[in-house]
Formats: sequence, structure tokens, C-alpha cells
Amino acid sequence: MFDVQNLSSGYGDVQVLSDLTFGIGNEVLAVLGANGAGKTTLLKTLAKVLPLRAGALEWDGQQVTHTPAHELSNRGIAYVPQEGNVFPNLSVAENLSLGALVGTRPKDERLDEVYTLFPRLAERKDQRAGSLSGGEGQMLAVGRALMQDPKLLLLDEPSAGLSPLYVDTLFQTIAEAREKRGLAIILAEQNAKKTMEIADRVLVLSLGRMHLLEEAKSLSMKRLMQAYHI
Ligand code: ATP
Repeated sequence: MFDVQNLSSGYGDVQVLSDLTFGIGNEVLAVLGANGAGKTTLLKTLAKVLPLRAGALEWDGQQVTHTPAHELSNRGIAYVPQEGNVFPNLSVAENLSLGALVGTRPKDERLDEVYTLFPRLAERKDQRAGSLSGGEGQMLAVGRALMQDPKLLLLDEPSAGLSPLYVDTLFQTIAEAREKRGLAIILAEQNAKKTMEIADRVLVLSLGRMHLLEEAKSLSMKRLMQAYHI
């Protein structure tokens, strides 16, 4: 469904990602790796927030290598960056409504679904997004992306800074959203243990290269940890 061929990217003179090739279908693909391995850079490049240096992207059988970010979101790819994805001065409901600018299903239908997935957001729908806790803010960012009715969700470290309870809730919701909607999800994470619980396949990056790409169920934590320290 989404194909990445020989992708390279970076910032200025610094090349961060080199020659990555992989595909993703209806699954949760976890992108793991040590600090600085290139996880965020990969998601930014896939979302077209950062240009490719080399390589090609294909989505639903069509080349999207040069397709701009806003066009990708119209075509069903939603991106949740690590932070700064909510408008602090707007309410929870207003933030969610902005997500519904993309797609055709009635807004209220989508709002109901997101409130069912995240009851906490329903309780706080009139609250300013800027006054939410860190965990609630992450839920709102994911909820807003789901409002776009995406087919592919790019999630950058959604568990960053969250307490274990919030991480559990968030990951359960991600797994549930995927189950119910047949979503494809690329999930970049530091939290390897939790991520392994919901991942179908795991891609480990090491210094911007693909070190390992395997089915999650056949990968032991020991091998995964070894892959981190290459
Ligand atoms: P973390 O788990 O710590 O968030 P990561 O795997 O997401 O790390 P990236 O944020 O993609 O890693 O960073 C990969 C490399 O790119 C790092 O060496 C980082 O210093 C570098 N880098 C990131 N952003 C920039 C930037 N704007 N300009 C220059 N170098 C950058």
C-alpha cells in the first residue's frame, strides 16, 4: 500500500537516513532505535515535512515522491508529529473539528467515534487544548488525526513524556483504531516493550540505516535490545 524505495534524507549538509527500502500494508509497523537513530527524520520525510534527498515513495499504486504534505493528507495520510500538533487557544472540540476539513463523512459521526475511543476528550470537549495534561494533549493530537479518516497514520513517539497509565490507554486505543478501521500505522517509538505489544512488524534503525525488519512475534526482546546497541 505504501512503498518506500531507497529513501535518503537529512538536514543541510548532514545526511541522516540512507537507502531505506520497505513497504507497509494494513498493519502496525514499529520504527524503533536509539536516540538519534533517525526515527523522527523518517516520519518527517514520509509526511513530506522534510524533502527526500533520494529515493521514491508510492502510495496506493501511485508515485507520491514529489507530492506536497497537504496533498498527502487529502489522500489519506495523517501525520502526528512529536509535539505541537494542537492549537492551544482552541477548545478540544474545535481542534478535532479541524481534522474533519479533510474527508467526506459527516463531522458529527467522526466526532462520536473519536469520543468513543477517547472518552477523556469527550469529558473535556469545551476545555482549551492548552490547558490539557501532556497525556490528554497526545490523545487530542491522535484524535485529530483520526478525524481525517486516514488510511495511513504516521505517529511520532506518542508515548513521549506520558505516565505508564496514559501509555497503556493510548496504545490500546491505537490498536483498537487499527482493528476497527483497517488502518495502516507507522509508529516511531522509544518505548520498545509497549510498542512490541501492538506491532505487527518492527523496523530498527541504527545511525540512519535499516538494521532489522522482522515480524514482531518472531523477535525476542533480547535480539531487539542487541539491535539497539549496534
Ligand atoms: P530520538 O529518539 O532521540 O527522538 P530519533 O531517532 O527520532 O531520536 P532524529 O530526531 O531523527 O532521531 O535525529 C537523527 C539525527 O538527525 C540526529 O543525529 C540529530 O541530531 C539529527 N537532526 C535532527 N534534526 C536536525 C536538524 N533540524 N538539523 C540538523 N540535524 C538534525
